[in-house]
Amino acid sequence: MSTPSPERPADGFFRALIRWFDADHIPEGVEALQSTPKKVDWARSIPFIILHLACFAVIWVGASPIAVWTAVGLYFFRMFAITGFLHRYFSHKTYSTSRAFQFVMAVWTALAVQRGALWWACTHRHHHKHSDEEEDKHSPVVDGFWWSHIGWITAKKNFPTDYSKIPDLAKYPELVFLNRFDILIPLLAGGLTYGAGAWLGAHGYETNGPQLLVWGIISTVVLFHGTAVINSLAHVFGNKRFQTTGDESRNSFILTLITLGEGWHNNHHRYQATTKQGFYWWEFDPTYYGLKVMSWLGLIWGLRAYPTPSTRRRNAPRRRPRHGVRELIAIVGSGVSGLGCLRFLRAHHDVTVFDHDQRPGGHAHTIDVKEPGTGRSLPMDTGFMVFNEVTYPHLCRLFKELGVKPKQTSMSSRSVTTRPGSSGAAAR
Ligand SMILES: [Zn+2]
Ligand SMILES: [Zn+2]
Repeated sequence: MSTPSPERPADGFFRALIRWFDADHIPEGVEALQSTPKKVDWARSIPFIILHLACFAVIWVGASPIAVWTAVGLYFFRMFAITGFLHRYFSHKTYSTSRAFQFVMAVWTALAVQRGALWWACTHRHHHKHSDEEEDKHSPVVDGFWWSHIGWITAKKNFPTDYSKIPDLAKYPELVFLNRFDILIPLLAGGLTYGAGAWLGAHGYETNGPQLLVWGIISTVVLFHGTAVINSLAHVFGNKRFQTTGDESRNSFILTLITLGEGWHNNHHRYQATTKQGFYWWEFDPTYYGLKVMSWLGLIWGLRAYPTPSTRRRNAPRRRPRHGVRELIAIVGSGVSGLGCLRFLRAHHDVTVFDHDQRPGGHAHTIDVKEPGTGRSLPMDTGFMVFNEVTYPHLCRLFKELGVKPKQTSMSSRSVTTRPGSSGAAAR
C-alpha cells in the first residue's frame, strides 16, 4: 500500500556525490536522468568548479619556466589525445587499431579530464545526429554561447553514458571500467605531477610540488575551454565550404590553431569518416600528421583521407578489368572486321575460321574458338566487327587466353607486332 516517495533534494545531492567517483551510479535510470530539464546540477559540478578556482592558487605558488612549459606541453599532449583519439577514433572510428593500443588511447584521453572516452564518444555522436536541432546538447544556434560552451556539461540530463547507443565500444569491459571510474586517472596524474614537482625541487630545479600541480590544473582548465570552443564557436565563426551539411558548422583557421586541426569543422561535418580534416595541403591539420606518424610505427592503420579529385583517381580500381573468354568474345564479336579481318586471321593465326557459307548453321563470318578447360566450341560472329586499335588488343588477348599462336611466318610476326589501324590495312 506504500507508494514510492518522490526523490528528496538530499537524495539527489548524495547521488551526485557518489557520481564524483562512480559515474555509472544512476539508480533512477539513464532515461529518467536524460529527461530532466536543461539546468545546471550544482552538486555534480563542484569538482569542475574547484578545478577553476584552483587556478587562482598561482597567486601563492608562483611561476617558473619549468612549470609554465610543463603546462604548455601538457596542453598539446592532451589536445592531441582529444582530437586524435576521442574524436577521430572513439567517436568516428576513422581508423583502426589493436585492442591493446585502444586501451592505451583511452588512458591517454583520461588525462584530459574530460570524463570517460565512452561518454565523450556517445555525446559527440549525438551531436552529429542532431546538429543544431533542439535535441543537440551543445548548439550555440539553439541555446546560445554560454550553454553550448559550458552550461550543457553541468546539466544532469547530459551526465549519463548511454551504453546502448555505443555497442561497438561498450563491449570492451576495460573501456567501460575507465569510463565508469573516470576520476581515477586524473587523480593519479595529479599525484604524479605533484611528485614530479617535489622531486625536481629537491634536486635543485626551480619548481616544487604545489607549483607544478597548480600549473597542471591551469593547463587542464585551458584545455577544457580550448576544446569547448569547437562546440560554442565552430558553429558560429568561419566559413562554410559545404552548404549541404544541414547545420551551421564552419571552417576556422584560428580554431584550428587552438585545437590542433579541429577547426575544419565544416569539412568534418560533411565528411565525418575521414581521419584527415584539413582537406588540402594548406589546411593545417597537425593531429593528422601525428596520426600518420603513429601509422608508420604500426600503432594504428587504415587512416582515411578526404577524397579530393586526385586521390579519387589514385584510389580508383585499376583499368583493364580481367575478362573471361566469353566476355572477350562478346566484346570482340560485338561488331570485328568483315572479310578483311577473316583473311588476316586465317593467314596469320592457327584458328579455324569459317565463312558463312562454309559453316552449316553458322552466321556470316564466324570464328570457331575452343573454350579453355571444357574444349567447348564458342562461335564468334565477326560479321560487323571493326578491326582497329580498340578491338585488336581484345582479339590478341582472346587468342592468348585460348592458346592460339600466330603462325610462324615472316609476315605474321611482323603483322602481329604491328597494330593495324583499319581492317583493310591489317588484312592486306
Ligand atoms: Zn565529429
Ligand atoms: Zn559540430
